[in-house]
Amino acid sequence: MPDTLSPAVTDVVELTRTLVRCESVTPKEAGALQHLERTLEPLGFKCERMDFSQAGTDDVANLYARIGTPRQEEGGRHFCFAGHSDVVPVGDLSSWTIGPFSAELSGGYLFGRGAADMKGAIAAFIDACARFLARRGRDFGGSISLLITGDEEGPAVNGTVKMLKRLAERGETIDDCVVGEPTSSRRFGDMMKIGRRGSMTVDLVVRGIQGHVGYPERLDNPIHRLSALIEALVREPIDKGSAHFQPTTLQFTTVDVGNKATNIAPGVVKARFNTRFNDLWTSKTLLAHLKEHMERANAALGGNGTIEFASVEVSGESFFTPPGPLSALVAGAIRDVAGVEAELSTTGGTSDARFIRSYCPVLEFGLVGETMHKVDEKSAIEDLKTLSRVYETVLDRYFAA
Ligand SMILES: [Zn+2]
Repeated sequence: MPDTLSPAVTDVVELTRTLVRCESVTPKEAGALQHLERTLEPLGFKCERMDFSQAGTDDVANLYARIGTPRQEEGGRHFCFAGHSDVVPVGDLSSWTIGPFSAELSGGYLFGRGAADMKGAIAAFIDACARFLARRGRDFGGSISLLITGDEEGPAVNGTVKMLKRLAERGETIDDCVVGEPTSSRRFGDMMKIGRRGSMTVDLVVRGIQGHVGYPERLDNPIHRLSALIEALVREPIDKGSAHFQPTTLQFTTVDVGNKATNIAPGVVKARFNTRFNDLWTSKTLLAHLKEHMERANAALGGNGTIEFASVEVSGESFFTPPGPLSALVAGAIRDVAGVEAELSTTGGTSDARFIRSYCPVLEFGLVGETMHKVDEKSAIEDLKTLSRVYETVLDRYFAA
């Protein structure tokens, strides 16, 4: 006889509302993880705070909760739901029509920062687990964990990376993982992510010769040089995309001169670009390619101007989990619960799945992401309930008796 639990006492909508009311803008915990602990412990989860610090970064609170086969007697499979309880700032507060942390229900939607990205999905994880455990008991022949970080929208230094490392160090393995990012595009269930493009930010310093604008023959204007270099970089696509990825993109995000004078051409201009790259590249090969391209364009301009790649920050390499049992399992659950065929996509920004993929097969599936990071972020109430049923179906089939 499995030890039976009291029937599910969670409610995905109310749980989401409680989480939204916690103002957990990175790196603040703001009671969000505390509330998760209070909800998970009565369900039988063993909750463990994994708080990390590192010089130069904010301290971050994280939560790891697990139920099922004890670690010491590893047995059965271990399924992990991963996500983040932190949210991005509200931005221009006056543009919100509803308080960003009031979690109001209106017109069939739950409004608030994190409603879509991704407190709604965390609530759905728990709601799904509660119903699954109420039916199957704690001896379902495997284990389920929630790996919730408070540092996804920030530098992502004291969160998922360190949690996974700690689990690995003590010999705890995860067999499969679903991240609850809001991957649905237009309607619930239409898209999941099986990979992501890489992201790299590069700071450039272009030097010329400062001089009086009235004597252009005596100067080498680095603004003009940079504009030609930008043109050379963006004129042609970097690649055409690959089997599962869109073409690599490159966007300049700032150009800085800070020149107050009207009669001086500056000697130096700084600029920054970010590139989102597909699996045809690593950050190394792409950087080499871009450097060569720019140096060639610079040489073609003549003169003595130089380009320096002052700093390069890689926030993630591209990754890809080939379609397989995990994507088939989740796609099947979406099809059967929501009647929608999910596209397997690699579009969009980065997520913590980029860290998890080094440990086990991972994919991302969650709510409609249309309003994520925007004002009046929202999720359809119906979608929250459907997502919870999709996750429950995933658990049922993963731990099929
Ligand atoms: Zn997110």
